[in-house]
Amino acid sequence: MLRKLAHLTLCLLVLNTAAQSATQNSATRASVATIVSDASSIDALLTKSFLEISGVAPTVRFTSQQYEQTRKRMESQEKTRKDELKATIKSIDDEIKQGERDLKKLNEQSSFDTDEIAQQRNVIHCTMQRLRTKQADTRIALETGVPIEYENLYAKLELLEKWPAARMEIARQVERGQARQRRWSDVEDIGFRTIAKNQEDDIKDGQEAVQQMKQSGLMPKAIEDAEITEYVHRIAQNIARNSDLKVPLNVTLLNSNEINAFALPGGFLFINHGLLLEAESESQFAGVIAHEISHNVARHGHSLMKRATISSVIYQAAQIGALIFTGGAVGIGAYYALQYGFQGLGLILSLQLLGVSRDYELEADQLGVQYAWKSGYDPEGFIDFFDIIAKKEGYVAKTSFFRTHPAFYNRIVESSREIAFLAQADQSIENTAEFDRIRDKLKKLSTDLDKEEKNRPTLYKRIPGCEPGSTQTPPEARPQFREARP
Ligand SMILES: [Zn+2]
Repeated sequence: MLRKLAHLTLCLLVLNTAAQSATQNSATRASVATIVSDASSIDALLTKSFLEISGVAPTVRFTSQQYEQTRKRMESQEKTRKDELKATIKSIDDEIKQGERDLKKLNEQSSFDTDEIAQQRNVIHCTMQRLRTKQADTRIALETGVPIEYENLYAKLELLEKWPAARMEIARQVERGQARQRRWSDVEDIGFRTIAKNQEDDIKDGQEAVQQMKQSGLMPKAIEDAEITEYVHRIAQNIARNSDLKVPLNVTLLNSNEINAFALPGGFLFINHGLLLEAESESQFAGVIAHEISHNVARHGHSLMKRATISSVIYQAAQIGALIFTGGAVGIGAYYALQYGFQGLGLILSLQLLGVSRDYELEADQLGVQYAWKSGYDPEGFIDFFDIIAKKEGYVAKTSFFRTHPAFYNRIVESSREIAFLAQADQSIENTAEFDRIRDKLKKLSTDLDKEEKNRPTLYKRIPGCEPGSTQTPPEARPQFREARP
């Protein structure tokens, strides 16, 4: 990131009108920071991507009170948003209870349904189904969507405030030749070092998880196009060969629009085709794969899963899936099903199973950066990819990725530190013509793939004859809505 920043800083300085109008600080600093008195321009900066903010941070200066005010305001906004969602859930509860009372009344009328009663009953069932879907959607927004949205904003605010000092500190460490003092600094020994012992013990767990996910209907189908899968396998296997993975890597390209990839314990890597479509270069694609492989190398899933069994975790996932996909009504759950292939694996998979926690993410970032570097890629690809997702509008697109790859300030700083410590290769791959060609081919195929995924049979119950569509779909999801149900 440091390398790109010099260039970005210059570009953004030209664009930054606030910087031109405010007083210039002429102190003898490495970069000239502009004091900005208008705290509202922090808000404008927070709409930019992580990389852009890192670029602009050394050129602007706000007071610590301005940061504090912004943070407090964001916290109270977040609380208000959550309170509103809680109130919605509560009022839907009341409506559902009313439905139950209506059904009871209906049942008191006669021993058997007349045509008229049957019709009324169907109307009530459909209403209740819509309400349940709407409630599930609201719960996802409350528990996942809004917290992720604000976590991103807090991380950006922290980056704006603290990055300039952190950047100088990293530069000092590099100058002092302290690269070898960090953990896992023995990058010349990649493949010959032990990050976590007994990786092979995870294979059985991974196999079990894969099997149970297939049985419970959680797993989208694999894509079979020979050329595309050969390419994806080759890229992933090359990274595995340049990593500390000691078990065979089993790669599957899934027919899912969700922008994400997962590694189940024991070397089972699942890449959603949405990831390949959204990545803009081979180094970004490789960066995400290298990060996922690192979770397997360090056995993060195993460490987090110690007290749970695979089947209890998969059972929970299936339960959440059922909650999201309660029927023919349209809501974010159904939206996921249509748009991302089934319920959106990233939304319902247990983070325990994937080894996602703050500390483990930092470790997987460090190792992932090393493996991408060792495989010959520009190691900044992974951070670049973060920005692509962060820039995407609306929480629907971000929820899954940021749930399994949480954004926080430390990750960006620590990844940048690791990159600065790695010997700079004479040539590193940022992108290849083959990546562009494969992605274009997948783009052409993806309409057919979406259709295939939508028509997939599901285990979840839908009530026939219900009119879809009266639940509130989040505004950002609306324009892309084409059909009500598979
Ligand atoms: Zn991760």
